[in-house]
Amino acid sequence: MADEVMEGGCACGRVRFKAKIANDDAYLCHCRMCQRATGSVSIAFKNVKAADVTWGSPPDRYDSSPIARRPYCRECGTSLGFIFKEGSENMDLTVASFDDPSRFKPRHHFGVESLHRAWLNTEGLPEHRTSDHQPLVDKWIETTGSVPD
Ligand SMILES: [Zn+2]
Repeated sequence: MADEVMEGGCACGRVRFKAKIANDDAYLCHCRMCQRATGSVSIAFKNVKAADVTWGSPPDRYDSSPIARRPYCRECGTSLGFIFKEGSENMDLTVASFDDPSRFKPRHHFGVESLHRAWLNTEGLPEHRTSDHQPLVDKWIETTGSVPD
């Protein structure tokens, strides 16, 4: 399959990227540092060659540890990825920051020493659509006149 260029960015749209994507492989990182960095029980990452990523407007970056940096947006706070300071030509982009994250499939778990197993298989739990939650729909209508897709 030929490489495809996929786009993504942060929630407010200030930071944008294009990445050359060779396959659908992605993974979940459960390490404590990723949990802290994103406020999530795990984070879905797509590993790519750093040279295959171009930033429309460059992300902010912070040192998340002595060995790594994380690109993010200082305006809206979106976590955009992970990159080692040295020794790797690859980096991670957060799967959900792609405009269409739907093609990626989880292929393995990483950082499983801090994996929260209760959150792993949530299949079968009750499912609710955002648009069926009337108080939230009312807030959107009241504030903007419509409900976002
Ligand atoms: Zn932003």
